[in-house]
Amino acid sequence: MEKIAVLGSTGSIGASGLRVISRFPDRFKVCGLSTNTNIELLENQVKKFRPQAVCIGSLIGAKPKLGNIKVYEGADGLCRMLKDLKIDTALVGIAGSSALLPVLTALDKVKKIALANKEALVMAGGIIMDKAAKNRVTIVPVDSEHSAIFQCIGGRESQELKKIFLTGSGGPFLNVKKSGFKNITPEQAVNHPKWKMGKKISVDSATMMNKGLEVIEARWLFNMDINNIHILIHPEAVIHSMVEFRDGAILAQLGACDMRIPIQYGLTYPERLDSGIKSPSFSSIKNLSFYEPDFEKFPCMGLAYEAGRKAGTYPCVLNASNETAVKYFIEGGIKFTDIPKVIEKVMGMHKDTKSPGLGDILEADKWARIKTQEILG
Ligand code: MG
Repeated sequence: MEKIAVLGSTGSIGASGLRVISRFPDRFKVCGLSTNTNIELLENQVKKFRPQAVCIGSLIGAKPKLGNIKVYEGADGLCRMLKDLKIDTALVGIAGSSALLPVLTALDKVKKIALANKEALVMAGGIIMDKAAKNRVTIVPVDSEHSAIFQCIGGRESQELKKIFLTGSGGPFLNVKKSGFKNITPEQAVNHPKWKMGKKISVDSATMMNKGLEVIEARWLFNMDINNIHILIHPEAVIHSMVEFRDGAILAQLGACDMRIPIQYGLTYPERLDSGIKSPSFSSIKNLSFYEPDFEKFPCMGLAYEAGRKAGTYPCVLNASNETAVKYFIEGGIKFTDIPKVIEKVMGMHKDTKSPGLGDILEADKWARIKTQEILG
């Protein structure tokens, strides 16, 4: 039995991951689960999967009914749980930068990480990929585009690659005029046309920052020059990304817009097992369309390329400022159009650290959050 920890088990990825796992009860044993705040769902998951341990964001005022299992608390607790458990695989579905330290801890423990989180790679991709190589841990991306790219590359060397076409549906505001952007509400922004996801990533998809973060994510996962990673808008979202090799051959990965497919591939890699998911009906799709991204309408993409090119601690600052601004936007404190404005300001004020260590990265993360809050008041 493959022993698994599902981090962020009550989120969109984690819950889908447990649905996948429950299809293969003879193959996977869930040993650890974690949630930030959704204790009720965690209780149900504990009843069903009977892990040895769980971690909860905060136990203040909480009396979780979890029976006789070990309960850890908070960010430090999550890392301690990973150290204490015997696990082969971690599915990382934690949203945002709080995945960084658990990912680094898991790299000392597991053989495989099915990684749905992109922010950890954006912040510290060099450190994560070096550690994975040193400890011989396979990182299988679960982000749908990166799973597609990973499958298209199929283990070939990065010097054989010429280009990555990172596709994106364009988000909910692809056809909304820029003049209407200032009136966009959080409710409209979280309503993605193709993918059902958590709040933070849905807002990122609406600003297209998600695609920008994915460019940096791909740069690290596939050791690719950022200038050879091209965003391509593909509203039907049938193709999940494409790879061009140096001989001019282009491979694409296609399929239903269902996160259980890349999650399952991440968990069962290198094997492919039956998923029970219905494939798209090509004759009813009729048309696949492609457009260049609009950098003027969605400035977050350009900011991400800029941060990725400058490297050092810039991607970390981009990410921290974005997380902070998105939080303000969801809580109704700022306009949709303020998100790229404040990120650009904070990036402009940043003094970079070249070849940053983990300490430099955590410091830059903290600095960017404080600066963003100062500017937003
Ligand atoms: Mg994605």
